[in-house]
Amino acid sequence: MWTISWTNSAADFSMPHSALAPVGRYAPSPTGSLHLGNLRTALAAWAHNRSRGGRFLLRIEDLDRPRVVEGSERRQLADLATLGIDWDEEPGRQSDRSSIYQQHFERLRMNRLVYPCFCSRRDIRTALSAPHIEDGVTGYPGTCRSLEPSIVTQRLAKGDQHCWRLRTDGAPCEFVDGLGVTCSPGFGRNMGDFVVLRADGLFAYQLACAVDDSSGGITEVLRGSDLLESGARQTWVLECLGLPVPKYIHIPLMVGEDGRRLAKRRGSDDLAGCLTRGLDAECVRSYLAWTLGQCPWGQRTTMQDLAARFDLKKIPREEVVYRPEDMDAFRS
Ligand code: GLU
Repeated sequence: MWTISWTNSAADFSMPHSALAPVGRYAPSPTGSLHLGNLRTALAAWAHNRSRGGRFLLRIEDLDRPRVVEGSERRQLADLATLGIDWDEEPGRQSDRSSIYQQHFERLRMNRLVYPCFCSRRDIRTALSAPHIEDGVTGYPGTCRSLEPSIVTQRLAKGDQHCWRLRTDGAPCEFVDGLGVTCSPGFGRNMGDFVVLRADGLFAYQLACAVDDSSGGITEVLRGSDLLESGARQTWVLECLGLPVPKYIHIPLMVGEDGRRLAKRRGSDDLAGCLTRGLDAECVRSYLAWTLGQCPWGQRTTMQDLAARFDLKKIPREEVVYRPEDMDAFRS
């Protein structure tokens, strides 16, 4: 047993933890400011982890350079800290880790688990609408899965644009999440082989995220239910690589009153917007903790309280509707 040092701690929790303590993470993409749904997920991941004396890490998912918004990483970290979330190490950045993804990709290639795919989006759409295609096929129809090796060599030599897909024949058709939700991606049939190296040369989220979690010693990943199918795909990536698979927990999302999920692009409320409306960080945190089923309506909650009483089982199993006026009940 030892006591971890809290590098970004507003308060001194000094919880002891053992070598078997869970290691959790939050992994934002710096593509805009974090909206309240993002902050809610981060808060749940933090509290679930800290409630059991775990180590909590941050990872900046900035691999998709064209989507990165200048300055948003700094703002995101500041917002997390303002809410009271702390983490144990300097956050890692995916953009620094391409050589590691490359090594794992090479292992997949050596084992013939990936193949180049020359299909354009339009080719895939056309193939999916062909009359012979099986009902329910929504992903990749497998066009390049069994191309003649001589054709592959020729096309690669010609420099034809291609991505690389991971074979999913043999993958289990079902994935059961840590909350007991079953996802049936139907690999090899209706979702199909997925991209691990993109045509623009960037490693795809599914490969990078799976490798980072596993090689970073993450033992549990708590994130939004929009990533449930990614849980199935990332489990498969790690199984193909023979790496440990973390426990995946996907919690129902917070949605707007129109039923659509909050989005950075839609200018949904973020922390700065709440503070401008005269709400303080504790109010926002308490409201989010209430939406997570962790504190009574209208009750102000500190981070210590939240960590001390966090109970995964209390998280509502359906989506929560964000109504800005609800936050007023949590003002001081
Ligand atoms: N970077 C992803 C996002 O911001 C989250 C990935 C994950 O938690 O696995 O949506």
